[in-house]
Amino acid sequence: MDTLVLANARLADGSSTDILIESGRISRFGAPAPESATTIDLGGRLVLPALIDAHIHLDKTLLGLPWQPHRAENTTQGRIASEKDLRRTLDWPVDKTGAELLRRALSQGTTAVRSHVDIDEVTGLRNVEAVLRLRERWSSFVDIELVAFPQSGIRRCPGAIELLDEAMKMGCDLVGGLDPVGIDDDPDGHLDAIFDLAHRHGTGLDIHLHDQGEPGLSEILAIADRTKADGLGGRVTVSHAFALGSVTSDRAAHAADRLAEAGVTILTSAPGAGPMPPVALLRAAGVRVVAGSDNIRDAWSPFGNASMLERCWLVAYRCGFRTDTDVEGTFDLATSNAASLLGLERGLAAGCSADLIALRADTLARAIIERPRPDLVLRRGRVTHWVDGLDPGRLPRLTLPR
Ligand SMILES: [Zn+2]
Repeated sequence: MDTLVLANARLADGSSTDILIESGRISRFGAPAPESATTIDLGGRLVLPALIDAHIHLDKTLLGLPWQPHRAENTTQGRIASEKDLRRTLDWPVDKTGAELLRRALSQGTTAVRSHVDIDEVTGLRNVEAVLRLRERWSSFVDIELVAFPQSGIRRCPGAIELLDEAMKMGCDLVGGLDPVGIDDDPDGHLDAIFDLAHRHGTGLDIHLHDQGEPGLSEILAIADRTKADGLGGRVTVSHAFALGSVTSDRAAHAADRLAEAGVTILTSAPGAGPMPPVALLRAAGVRVVAGSDNIRDAWSPFGNASMLERCWLVAYRCGFRTDTDVEGTFDLATSNAASLLGLERGLAAGCSADLIALRADTLARAIIERPRPDLVLRRGRVTHWVDGLDPGRLPRLTLPR
């Protein structure tokens, strides 16, 4: 692979350096470049690790289609019904809409995603097939991890567990779940089914949990207990975990200790209206916290732009963070923490995989507050996105999939 030098790079500590990249990795800083190297002069742009979106729905987005007004009733069940209605009536090629979402994510500096994929009696395995095709076509640009997601529940959706089993055989990486109480009204049955499926396939789980208050908290504690009993520490995520933000801080602290001990990760999208898990409390207790976009311009929400810098901004905003240290800490949720969850590397040291972005900001705090689009994106040392003036020169050009 070609040798690349990122010249006049600004690092988060304010220093300026050249970064030498060989064989897809950062090999050294500040050293003279070999004559054969291709140089891109960053002109003082800030270089940061590339971003990871740890919760996205590639098959739900309506990007690339004519504008669809939001029409769902304001409940989880209402949004499920509205989405099913759209799937029945709209010409909705997931290969095209999912690709549009990936294009936008890439232009925002994201080089890895975890996507949940709907499986229910209406979609069957159609969306799994489409997203597997997307993963194949986009493999040069983005790492895609897939969660088989029972969007209509399990008990309430005949045949769901068999479809999930088939999706895992087809290539999904993780077993999903959804509100064992709120959707299925069968916490033990729902958790039995998905943990059994994960055990049979030797995988982890990522469970959507919107249930709030003490019922939601008891589900979170049950998930922690099962994670510990099944030896799945580090491989189970609770997405949203609104319950942690809707109980007293003493109860949340108790749960945080149990989650840390079991090795359960908490994901937040910093939702506009839902309760926010206490990020600082969880991190202080040793819980891995990650961030994701969740819904982007779909039947669930008309918002979202696939920017993980903006998601860090939202986490900081909702948590009331103001100091540079606290604001900059949110960046871990979309880089190092998410990387350890997905089994990837993110960092800015010699030997690290060269998954990098360069943007116009002088500090990381400013980058999060102002959320500029990256001017350059590298995935494993290859330039995958650039603006005029940062042309990758004679390096091989990668053509975005259609
Ligand atoms: Zn979701």
